[in-house]
Amino acid sequence: MKIIRTVQTMMKEMELLKDKKVGFVPTMGYLHEGHLSLVETAKKENDIVIMSIFVNPLQFGPNEDFDQYPRDEQKDAEVAKQAGVSILFIPTVNEMYPDEMSINMTIGKGSNVLCGKSRPGHFDGVITVLTKLFHMTQPTNAYFGLKDAQQFAMVNSLISELNFPIQLIGLPTVRESDGLAKSSRNVYLSSMERTDATALYSALKLGQKLIVDGIKNPVTIIKEVENFIRTSTKGSIDYVELLSFPNLENVVIINEQIILAVAVKFKKARLIDNIILNPDGSQLDRIN
Ligand code: AMP
Repeated sequence: MKIIRTVQTMMKEMELLKDKKVGFVPTMGYLHEGHLSLVETAKKENDIVIMSIFVNPLQFGPNEDFDQYPRDEQKDAEVAKQAGVSILFIPTVNEMYPDEMSINMTIGKGSNVLCGKSRPGHFDGVITVLTKLFHMTQPTNAYFGLKDAQQFAMVNSLISELNFPIQLIGLPTVRESDGLAKSSRNVYLSSMERTDATALYSALKLGQKLIVDGIKNPVTIIKEVENFIRTSTKGSIDYVELLSFPNLENVVIINEQIILAVAVKFKKARLIDNIILNPDGSQLDRIN
């Protein structure tokens, strides 16, 4: 596995690899099985796999956890190598943003719901860094986790509206055995909160069951999911929303593909989870 730290070297390397099928897995590091599942699929579908590790300051708000975000470059490099990553791109903040950006990218549609509502500017930062990373790595296929489903929807708009010649692939959320979605931020949870946190997925499964049972009114489902979380955790609900997917618009009656998504704030961690469902309640795993 090659470790590359500069934009110039990365772009030179890609020039040499331009006839290869390249799978790209962008991450913020502190790797876990969720990240590795993306690598595993990317390996099967491409000649080489590039992973980036970059904690992007542009997507963190002033009171968010940019400084505290867990980092372990040495371990990540070992894990990425074992997983079969061909090139690990680890630029510094200064390498990615040598000067203050004079171009501001802003995403509209779908960015003012779910996490976009409580994290203003977050997805603007995400699409900015991804535009740069896509240019640097020029992938054939880009792999994202559906755990961050709103991010997937925003990247979908970025790729289609700005005509990136990249195939976007969304893969299922990898979970702990008790259902908690794997996340680098789970390390922030106290042991009591870790127990409580399983309620997020249980609440989503309850919502799914209601849809399978034939309930078509989103309001009823949201209420039940909220009640479940409220009675089984000490965390505070940031949102429970049911929207069309990937358009992220309000739904009056469930007769199209939807996302049921939750965000719950614990003392140090804000956890998100979701499921993407067909109108009959069956779950979608891979999107491309
Ligand atoms: P992050 O390092 O948190 O920015 O995540 C990098 C990529 O890994 C994103 O596409 C995430 O959606 C994906 N990812 C994070 N957690 C999981 C998970 N539990 N299952 C599947 N993909 C995940």
